[in-house]
Amino acid sequence: MEYYSLNRKAPKTNFENAVIKGLAPDKGLYFPEEITPLPASFFEDIDNKSYPEIAFEAIKQFVSPEISEDTLKTIVEETLSFDFPVVQLDDSISTLELFHGPTMAFKDVGARFMARCLGHFNKNNTKEVTVLVATSGDTGGAVANGFLGVKGVKVVILYPSGKVSDIQEKQLTTLGQNITALEVDGVFDDCQDMVKQAFLDETITSKIQLTSANSINVARWLPQLFYFMFAYKQLHKKHDEIVFSIPSGNFGNICAGMVAQQLGLPIKHFIASNNANNVVTEYLQTAQYNPKPSVATISNAMDVGNPSNFVRIQEIYNNDFKRLQANLSSFSYTDEQTKAALLEIYKTYNYVADPHGAVGYLGCKAYLKTNPNAHCVFLETAHPTKFLDVVENVIKTKVELPSQIEAVMDKEKVALQISDYNGLKGFLLNTI
Ligand SMILES: *Cc1c(COP(=O)(O)O)cnc(C)c1O
Repeated sequence: MEYYSLNRKAPKTNFENAVIKGLAPDKGLYFPEEITPLPASFFEDIDNKSYPEIAFEAIKQFVSPEISEDTLKTIVEETLSFDFPVVQLDDSISTLELFHGPTMAFKDVGARFMARCLGHFNKNNTKEVTVLVATSGDTGGAVANGFLGVKGVKVVILYPSGKVSDIQEKQLTTLGQNITALEVDGVFDDCQDMVKQAFLDETITSKIQLTSANSINVARWLPQLFYFMFAYKQLHKKHDEIVFSIPSGNFGNICAGMVAQQLGLPIKHFIASNNANNVVTEYLQTAQYNPKPSVATISNAMDVGNPSNFVRIQEIYNNDFKRLQANLSSFSYTDEQTKAALLEIYKTYNYVADPHGAVGYLGCKAYLKTNPNAHCVFLETAHPTKFLDVVENVIKTKVELPSQIEAVMDKEKVALQISDYNGLKGFLLNTI
């Protein structure tokens, strides 16, 4: 598959290069040149296919020929070594649990897939890369875990001091080996700005091959389309009008869902569920896209003021506002509403959601008001214990820690403090 830059001022390139570069030389996001729908038989036979088989068929066109079919089979099998259960709450609402991976947020799949692709490209030790990534919480842990010990890949994670949960901090600061955590005196946007500046800094890029493991990287972004197929497999016999409510921040996950739809998956509608960071909710109401500085909320992985994947969504719908509006609704909720939803879900269904999932639940409820025949699946993007304080305070009940979380609790944090771009630059030039 060839990839082109959405800024359209850089040459096309193949999958391997798109993964190694992260961003095109003109700073545009890469986008696949074609999305060829899967044959109808793929969906008709879906009940007979395993998750790795579904994933293999679905992503093959995007990674070939640089990744051979045999290699791809191994990569998807290793990536998807845990479950993706749908839990039905009632006739109209289900949740797709995407938190059964090693760091208990949905980013595990993209991080594990990308790490294996980079490891494969570097098998002859010729393509050393440094993955530079800013995290608002979950990306850091997923990337640290996914890339731990991958040959020829160094990982540098920037996270905002005091703005990630304790468990999230442990997950990204305790692994060692090829992973370094930089604790930034600032907010997530500062981390993201520093990463962007480093990509533009020739004194760095002339010495080090930098790439990104945020969802701008096609190998992190595209595997997320699997989730929608896994949910479909579990639900299609019971429900024929399936809609998804996706708690969204950088809009990578929802955009991958839209790629699944382009591949032919019968998804009736998407709901982008947002916290107070509501630039897309406003856009769908006003047709004005006004990025804003992010504000901190209890669903911190969605605290994004200028979602990087929105340009990809615009591309999928051909920049046609009406077409986008027909496929996508968006709602935005305050922290108070989110907490009330957590409690409602617990009281009504005896189900413990996390703050992101609770925002997704509210999106379902809002959509179902005017579309009562739909079956709405909200994505549970993280395990509730990643946000233990908030969740336990609201439902007034202790939640048991899963083994993945238990395992990092007692480990010692190792992070380097930096306060500005020079701190990052010095680290990269002197240490990497
Ligand atoms: C990253 C993340 C999101 C937002 O996903 P995007 O792809 O950036 O829209 C939502 N919930 C959780 C728990 C996350 O970690």
